[in-house]
Amino acid sequence: MATAVSTASPETFDVMIVGAGISGIGAAYHLQQQCPGKRYVVLESQAGYGGTWRTHRYPGIRSDSDLFTFGYRFKPWMGAPIATAAEILKYMGDVIAENQLAPHIRYRHGIVSASWSSADQRWLIEATRPVPDEDRTETVQFSVKFLWMCQGYYRHAEGYTPEWPGMAQFKGRIVHPQTWPDDLDLAGKRVVVIGSGATAATLIPAIADQCAQVTMLQRSPTYFITGRNANELADTLRQLDIPAEWTHEIVRRKVLFDQANFTRRCVAEPEVVKRELLAGVSAALGPGFEDQVQQHLTPRYRPWQQRIAFVPDADLFKAVRSGKAAIVTDQIESFTETGIQLTSGQVLDADVVITATGFNLSALGDIHFTIDGAPLDFADTITWRGTMFTGVPNMAWVFGYFRASWTLRADLIADLVCRLLQHMDARGASVVTPTLRPQDQGMPLLPWIDPQNFNPGYLARGMALLPRQGDHPPWQQSQDYALDKDELPKVDLDDGALVYR
Ligand SMILES: Cc1cc2nc3c(=O)[nH]c(=O)nc-3n(C[C@H](O)[C@H](O)[C@H](O)COP(=O)(O)OP(=O)(O)OC[C@H]3O[C@@H](n4cnc5c(N)ncnc54)[C@H](O)[C@@H]3O)c2cc1C
Repeated sequence: MATAVSTASPETFDVMIVGAGISGIGAAYHLQQQCPGKRYVVLESQAGYGGTWRTHRYPGIRSDSDLFTFGYRFKPWMGAPIATAAEILKYMGDVIAENQLAPHIRYRHGIVSASWSSADQRWLIEATRPVPDEDRTETVQFSVKFLWMCQGYYRHAEGYTPEWPGMAQFKGRIVHPQTWPDDLDLAGKRVVVIGSGATAATLIPAIADQCAQVTMLQRSPTYFITGRNANELADTLRQLDIPAEWTHEIVRRKVLFDQANFTRRCVAEPEVVKRELLAGVSAALGPGFEDQVQQHLTPRYRPWQQRIAFVPDADLFKAVRSGKAAIVTDQIESFTETGIQLTSGQVLDADVVITATGFNLSALGDIHFTIDGAPLDFADTITWRGTMFTGVPNMAWVFGYFRASWTLRADLIADLVCRLLQHMDARGASVVTPTLRPQDQGMPLLPWIDPQNFNPGYLARGMALLPRQGDHPPWQQSQDYALDKDELPKVDLDDGALVYR
């Protein structure tokens, strides 16, 4: 498709928010509330809002966090804790409608480049968009003072599928859940799902009834936690007619209290927690599955080194118990014409292979960044509180929590960015750039996330693309909500680490 460059002069805004996922819509809300004087625009490459919850359309797609904490702090969640993508999209749609955010959002605008000019003290943004009723796109320009990056952390266009020998000769269909085809009919098919994370655990019970057989093929086991998709405290408060805002806040605090306690126990007594998790899985499977638990459901790593997948109402285990789903732990030797040959010698016949093998990390929305003409290598930067980056002026990135709900941090960063924008106005500053102070020079540099602490595949594959952190504040990101919720609102914006002009 041809792309023409629009000759119109760039549109100007104070703030550009990149992405209309849960972070971008939250950023727009907070900016409007806390900095009502700022003119802003949200650019989103897709045809609608939702981000993750719009991109992923595989059967059963749902959150694995509770929505009391994955939801915004300002908008009570009224449903069951675990929500479908459709319910999350409805919730986000309500936030957009109730706060008149829609006129600020431009869909089908994919940002391709962002160029900072110190002379202009602005970012020049180039985005491509389709020309209505024509088979071509055009490039449009925006000139903005501040960039608020809410583009998430992975490439939306396609998921990660490893290269296995023989894939080309497989006569069935290979599908990645991130790009689920509308025409995929699984009725009566033998299906192999490669992977054992939250996606596989969600997908398998959702398709098990229609398939002839579905097999979860995993390299190594994952921890699962089972429970009812209900929150007793929320249900009680609702019965008592407590205002929804109170219920939301009280249940958030309870969920966070319980999670903090659980995380503490994972570190203090990992073996005890491991036994409890495995006992939960054994109880969900019932008698006769002891060998399966031992072989396929007992991970080698410590609980919490990777996100623990929540299985509401034990649906995955019900599918296994009924015989409709099976788990195999093995390595792929190669694909054959009719299935998958495993290292052990076992062969899995398949009509359809679903590769629930994760994401491709995308550090800055695949946008080509330059600063005064020099390409920005994000990996050369050091983070200021996991939000801004040394040498990168007027730019913040929302990177949420892995163990706790992403949105908890998106809300906190929104407060921080809004406070910074107000602070710049009060100082009469146009530019803010994180810069190492004399006492920070030469400090040891660490990876963006400590792999000993959290080590999923897409981060391990993409770590070299990400900024680094230092060994002391403010050059670290904590990934700890309990700490951030007290510290971030009090961050000293004049401690010399942020240089204003
Ligand atoms: C299946 C699945 C389930 C998950 N469940 C949970 C959960 O239960 N709890 C939890 O905390 N986390 C969960 N996560 C992690 C989840 O991605 C984040 O929590 C959160 O949704 C990220 O929101 P975001 O708005 O920051 O980014 P995204 O949801 O990734 O949205 C980013 C948006 O930016 C747009 N964009 C990107 N680049 C550009 C560009 N160059 N130009 C214009 N627009 C651009 C994208 O199109 C997208 O719409 C899940 C992830 C997946 C994939």
